[in-house]
Amino acid sequence: MHELPITRSLLDLALHHAENAGGGRITVLHLEVGRLSGVIDRFVQFYWDIVTEGTPAEGSKLDFEHVEIGMECDGCGTRFTPDGRAYTCPTCSSTDVRVVDGDQFHLVSIDLEQDDRTGMKGNGT
Ligand SMILES: [Zn+2]
Repeated sequence: MHELPITRSLLDLALHHAENAGGGRITVLHLEVGRLSGVIDRFVQFYWDIVTEGTPAEGSKLDFEHVEIGMECDGCGTRFTPDGRAYTCPTCSSTDVRVVDGDQFHLVSIDLEQDDRTGMKGNGT
C-alpha cells in the first residue's frame, strides 16, 4: 500500500498552493486518478483525514475524477480504451500498444475559503 506517502505529498502540495493563493482554509481538493494508478480512493480518504489534522486542510473533501486507461497503437497510431483484458489495437489488431493515459494521480485544483476576504459562506448548521 502506497497511499500514505502519496497522501502526505498531496497535503504538502495543497498547502503550498493554498499559500500561493493567499492562504485560507482548504475545502475541496479535485484529483485526477487514472484507472492504472493503483490508487484506491477510500485509502487516500482514510489517510487524508489523519494527515490533515491541525492543518488548514482539516475537514476538507477529496473529489476524485477517474481517468480511463488510454492506449495507443505503435503500428497505426490509433488511440483507444482497452476493453477488458484485451490490449490489442481495435483497428489493426496489433499487440504493439502502449499506455498513454490512465496511470496518473494528480491534484487538479483546490477550493479555498478565505473568510477574511470573501466573507462567511452561509451554511445553516
Ligand atoms: Zn493499430
